[in-house]
Amino acid sequence: MNLAWKKLIHTFLNLILPRSCAGCGAKNEIFCGNCQLASYKRGAQCLFCGFRNQTGAVCQSCKNVKHSMFDKTAVKHVLWVGRYDGALKEAIWQFKYKKRKELAAPLAEMLWNKFLEINIMNVENATLKDNHAIIPIPLHFKKEYERGFNQAELLAREFCKLSNIQCLTNVLIKTRETKAQVAVDNKELRIKNLEGAFCINPKISQSNLSLLTSHALILIDDVATTGATLIHASETLAKVGLPCRQAGAKKIIGLVVAHG
Ligand SMILES: [Zn+2]
Ligand SMILES: [Zn+2]
Repeated sequence: MNLAWKKLIHTFLNLILPRSCAGCGAKNEIFCGNCQLASYKRGAQCLFCGFRNQTGAVCQSCKNVKHSMFDKTAVKHVLWVGRYDGALKEAIWQFKYKKRKELAAPLAEMLWNKFLEINIMNVENATLKDNHAIIPIPLHFKKEYERGFNQAELLAREFCKLSNIQCLTNVLIKTRETKAQVAVDNKELRIKNLEGAFCINPKISQSNLSLLTSHALILIDDVATTGATLIHASETLAKVGLPCRQAGAKKIIGLVVAHG
């Protein structure tokens, strides 16, 4: 669809269904430039202890905590756009619970800006699509049915449009319903809550299976708190193909909208 058509449809939709910025309420906006700017936190840091670094890597001292969930985690870098508060929290809330699906586009744009800002591998944009694949964190089918969509998948699809990287949906699945992470009291229980919750779709095609093991995988989600979801999902991906003695996913990057 060309830009003129998009603008026309946008104007028409605004007429019949006036929109306002999810952050500040500004008219005819979805998530306005000011709110995006205010939500965007520059730089990267260790997800677990907050130590600032260049790449969003899990830092050595976190990895050194034996028997913690971090010491062997397959997700080596986690990037997030901003803190889970203020305008960003409101935008995510409206996206998920008010079902404002149009928020996926501006939020994915912020994910893309963060990815470009950090660009862990220093890859040229042109070659990104040759060695990366995107995987949205899945919802349990019952939850997705209730909500009507998986917010991570909508974000991932928009991210793919911006980056031209292919999106692998339905490859990682959530096999059991778990309590919402926010409803679980402490860190330990949050980790346990998700144990064995993900698996690779048994109907995965051979070509997607080889993509999982040959490409750097970008796991996309809306919010990360303890990182337990990213850790368990990446564990599953790292074990792909193990029964056939192949190596699992080589490099996994977590990319989330908000941390907190
Ligand atoms: Zn705003
Ligand atoms: Zn750390």
